[in-house]
Amino acid sequence: MIERIRGKVESGERLSAEECLYLYRHGDLLDLGALANLVRERKNGNVTYFIVNRHLNYTNLCVNRCRFCAFSREPGAQGGYAMTVPEIVEAATSVPGRFTELHIVGGLHPDLPFSYYLEMLSSLKAVLPNIHLQAFTAVEIAHIAQVAGLSVRETLEQLIAAGLGSLPGGGAEVFSARVREAVCPVKLSGEEWLGVMRAAHALGLRSNATMLYGHLETPEEKVDHLLRLRALQDETSGFMAYIPLAYHSGNTDLGGRPSTTGVEDLREVAIGRLALDNFDHVKSFWIMQGLKLAQVSLSFGADDLDGTVTEERITHAAGATTPQSLTRDELCALIREAGRVPVERDTVYTVCATGAPGGATL
Ligand code: SF4
Repeated sequence: MIERIRGKVESGERLSAEECLYLYRHGDLLDLGALANLVRERKNGNVTYFIVNRHLNYTNLCVNRCRFCAFSREPGAQGGYAMTVPEIVEAATSVPGRFTELHIVGGLHPDLPFSYYLEMLSSLKAVLPNIHLQAFTAVEIAHIAQVAGLSVRETLEQLIAAGLGSLPGGGAEVFSARVREAVCPVKLSGEEWLGVMRAAHALGLRSNATMLYGHLETPEEKVDHLLRLRALQDETSGFMAYIPLAYHSGNTDLGGRPSTTGVEDLREVAIGRLALDNFDHVKSFWIMQGLKLAQVSLSFGADDLDGTVTEERITHAAGATTPQSLTRDELCALIREAGRVPVERDTVYTVCATGAPGGATL
């Protein structure tokens, strides 16, 4: 089987569900890495992308309380917070330094009105007109639509008019109804997540896609998840990057279950790269993977390390021990040491600066 898969990857043919499942069950780590690296270099050469961005988590109050989530708090619980719009603007503008993207996600707050989300975006745009606002997972969009009493499409139209630039890829978890019932029973279904993304892409909004692995899911369920992402991408071409997200066990209701290992993390990056032939980019989110493994993943299919990330609360609430931010120089040094050429991008992968010979400013 591996020879058949190798032949298909070399000739750029799409892998079947059966072949993806074989990779999960029997693929040798280094075989996976070599094949994924072939695809990665075919699509993105020797380049590794990163972005100079900031994260902003506007509230941790959430009506969903997913069992893997260490970030959220029940309304009224100790440690809960919700930022006002002026506080959000202050947080976005108070740290000195250049950045191109603000990445905004939060819990599903029970009471915030639709006007809060519109005002958040328009107020940020008023003071940061050139900053791309990548905001609200599909889960939040569905919640905001419910709060607004509007369809997802109408909600997105108003958010876009207020300044929304793209959607992050979170909240996908694993699409399997069995897994969702066990780990996030109140969250929107896999079909609904894909439906929000379909609506966003139809309006010209680009997005990312994720899969949260390392908890209760089976290889079959992961293959199903990846192939459903691939099918939607065939339909819309709206996804920019796939981001495998490692489950972190600290402070969660699924505690007792160990966090993922380095081998598992590398296998997910590589299989994602091999299964999602119609995705341009695979991102190794260093906040979750850890810096050392993220660096190695650049030879296992990943071509993007995400960003400088000031103020990340969600993964750190679940025990991530990575730093809360990196400087642009630190990121470039990590990429160069891995033998790759650093390229600073904006949210939609327009090149801002490249470290390639003759390429100016890195
Ligand atoms: S993962 Fe998102 S939706 Fe689920 S409890 Fe945490 S903040 Fe809420």
